[in-house]
Amino acid sequence: MPSFDPARIALPCAHFIQGQRVTDPSALSVSRPSDGAVYAELPMADANRVDDAVTSAHQAFVRGDWSRCAPRERARIMRRWADLIEADIDYLAPLESLGSTRPIDQTRAWDVPYTAEGIRFFAEFADKHGGEVAATAHDHLGMQIAEPLGVVGAIAPWNFPLSMTCWKVAPALAAGNTVVLKPSEMTPFTAVRLAELAIKAGMPPGVFNVIQGNGPVTGDALCRHPYVAKVTFTGSTVTGRTIMGACAETGPKPVTLELGGKSPQLVFADIPDIDRTAKTLAAAITGNAGQVCVAGSRLLIQHELLEPMIERLSKHFNALTPGPTWQTGGWFSPIISATQLTRIESIVARSREAGAELLGGGERFERNDGGHFYQPTLLHTNDRHNPAVEEEIFGPVLTIQTFESEEEALALAEHDVYGLAAGIHTADLGRALRTVRRLSAGTVWVNRYGRSNDYILPTGGYKRSGVGRDLGRAAFDACLQHKSVLIDL
Ligand code: NAD
Repeated sequence: MPSFDPARIALPCAHFIQGQRVTDPSALSVSRPSDGAVYAELPMADANRVDDAVTSAHQAFVRGDWSRCAPRERARIMRRWADLIEADIDYLAPLESLGSTRPIDQTRAWDVPYTAEGIRFFAEFADKHGGEVAATAHDHLGMQIAEPLGVVGAIAPWNFPLSMTCWKVAPALAAGNTVVLKPSEMTPFTAVRLAELAIKAGMPPGVFNVIQGNGPVTGDALCRHPYVAKVTFTGSTVTGRTIMGACAETGPKPVTLELGGKSPQLVFADIPDIDRTAKTLAAAITGNAGQVCVAGSRLLIQHELLEPMIERLSKHFNALTPGPTWQTGGWFSPIISATQLTRIESIVARSREAGAELLGGGERFERNDGGHFYQPTLLHTNDRHNPAVEEEIFGPVLTIQTFESEEEALALAEHDVYGLAAGIHTADLGRALRTVRRLSAGTVWVNRYGRSNDYILPTGGYKRSGVGRDLGRAAFDACLQHKSVLIDL
């Protein structure tokens, strides 16, 4: 059942600067993963347009009607913003689904409400932090004051356009900063709508700006702009390194980087319910067709469970039916682009050439609608240097490796590059706690996988999976700087 007609959605095909839409000549084609159709031409911000946006944010910061307003007033506007986002679900959810990999059932049930609630979560910090009075000599008064940084440059990926915008933007705004956001050029539209709703909620013009464009031109100009005080980025590890370089050359400026992953799932033979674990493992690699930074993409399983687990995973994988994101009914997501689809195929082919055994999937879904759909795929190998084990695929491809002992499982779990997340499945509490402490991962889930709808636990990477943390108090604190004041009494 189509939930909406993809041809009938008004697209905010523009930047959003100083409280209004701004356009440039079209420069980028935007296509829909569900059918491959080009459905919009996007303006691209060059260095001058980036300068307009950053200058607008800088002037708003200096003006002070956001950065120096009563923090409770900031919080009130942000809560109103969240209410407006929820009330706009009939437009925002289709707009999010249209050109992304997020099926309409999910954008309605999860992406839109989760984004609104995330904004409320950070709004609550606005007036719940203070400074400190320091113990100094009796004839001095020492104080420490927390202040916003200035203009925060935010750069988001395409895999969860709304919620990633929330993670990047909401803590920065709650702390009193102003923001220039560059969404992914593949999913550019819902960010503009969010910025418009912020104005409607009472946020002053120039506080939250959106610029459209690609990474090397628009993103790079944003990172290098002298008025940008900090860059917060979510995307691949390679891009994160480039961004850190640009921020070092033009700063140094602080960065928060949420990067790639290759997360292991350790399954021990003592699990009480293999069906339940199989369901969790399947969901962890097929949700959003594996295009999730924390996708549980490496299954490490105690060898006696190998055959029964393959049987169960295959059943889950075979039950998934692809479908366009505008149809209701719980369809399996498309791959974001033709380029990414070809990349997945190439990694699977290289992995098989290197000796991995294909146990299921391994091909595109044959369709006549032009959609980019790849079958959930199982590869068995015990070579830790196999390409499918080493590289972040960002698709529905699960590798299976076996182990005999806890020590061996821990050794296999360690990845040379990534340390974003991990899962442990065992009935033995002692083993769970031992292994939690030895895994190099920013998040470890025990007998479950994936976030619940909480915002309080910080998320981020060990190793090259990131610098700093999103969510939680940590994300808010990272948007502040501290001033020490010493007064002669
Ligand atoms: P990407 O790195 O290709 O692009 C992310 C963003 O960076 C886009 O907006 C892009 O235009 C911009 N960009 C690209 N080059 C740039 C440059 N030189 N300067 C400034 N900006 C630049 O990533 P993607 O393909 O959009 O997203 C997938 C990646 O994101 C995966 O690696 C995934 O693991 C990661 N991710 C991580 C998290 C996390 O929380 N750790 C969450 C979601 C996605």
